[in-house]
Amino acid sequence: MAKVNPDFVKDIRKLGAEDFKACFSCGNCTATCALSDKDNSFPRKMLRYSILGLEGEIKSSLDPWLCYYCGDCSTSCPRQADPGNLMMSLRRYLISKYDWTGLSGILFKNLWAYIIAFLLVLAGIVSLYAGGIFDQEEMMHYGHLFEMIAIGGVFAVILLPNIIRMWYFTVLSKKNKFVIKNYIVALKDLFIHMFTQKRSLECNVENPVEKKTNKNWWFMHLLLVTGYLTLLVTTVFFNWFASENMFVIYFGYIVSAVVFIITFLFVIARIKKRTQKTKFSHFSDWFFVIWLFFMGISAFLVRFFVDIDILENNFWMYLFHIMILAQWALIIVPFGKWTHFLYRSFAMYFEKINAMAKK
Ligand code: SF4
Ligand code: SF4
Repeated sequence: MAKVNPDFVKDIRKLGAEDFKACFSCGNCTATCALSDKDNSFPRKMLRYSILGLEGEIKSSLDPWLCYYCGDCSTSCPRQADPGNLMMSLRRYLISKYDWTGLSGILFKNLWAYIIAFLLVLAGIVSLYAGGIFDQEEMMHYGHLFEMIAIGGVFAVILLPNIIRMWYFTVLSKKNKFVIKNYIVALKDLFIHMFTQKRSLECNVENPVEKKTNKNWWFMHLLLVTGYLTLLVTTVFFNWFASENMFVIYFGYIVSAVVFIITFLFVIARIKKRTQKTKFSHFSDWFFVIWLFFMGISAFLVRFFVDIDILENNFWMYLFHIMILAQWALIIVPFGKWTHFLYRSFAMYFEKINAMAKK
């Protein structure tokens, strides 16, 4: 028998959902959603599950990840129940359920917990430097080492076990036949969706203005993902800050500029709130775009300070960069909005595996 959580409505409200209880189940939203089909019928089903508190059904569902928050459903809802926003909040809920540490749930529900976590990282960086254990050169060396360890460590200790939990909840618990060939064939979907998010282009079929905005948004998102990943490779594997290779130096400038320019445009869009997608921003959305902006601009300026030979007397710039990087790597990547990048791609992968198993 399905387990009911009577506090589910209260819990999901803490994650950002607001008026979804106004839903009277007319089904307009599902009819409007270009991504909903007979196998994955949403968002109405998710509204019913949420109102009834059917936590188990939600936890084993991949539907919230198949939604790209275009907002068509919210625009068409006669009760202003904002189903698009509920889908977004359910993604936060799912992230907190996949996370074995339980920290995502605490951070998503509590702005103060977020702020305290950020301050703790800041205090760590400041005391390392102020303690005088490292000189500037050593600090940069260990900063570089930290980047490498953080990437591997966060993935191995937190993200990988969380993906396995997600697989358990959404694939294994359905008791479908385990066919190894399906896992290999579906891998293509994992990588295509991870880097292109091409399914989001199918949104907004009914609304040409929103569709155009959505296309631009998709393109900027693609540039940002590419810029972010190449900046990571340039700084971590090609040691951009210390490199003397002209190609690496200029390439680093270009990709870091791509990151801070696009995130700046995203911040402006969220401030203006002109589209359904940008109408509501949870504090974790703000931290995500603002920290990505700071990461791009501070990396750009550190390298610029190196090139004009003023970093030694302005070492605060490097400390600022390393603080942003540490907060990003230790809080936003494992427990915040960054995880969307990973879980949504795996959702596409698991969805394909589930569909193949049914054939
Ligand atoms: S359109 Fe609105 S009222 Fe109708 S089912 Fe969807 S959320 Fe509920
Ligand atoms: S926000 Fe867009 S993709 Fe998500 S459920 Fe609504 S209509 Fe579908």
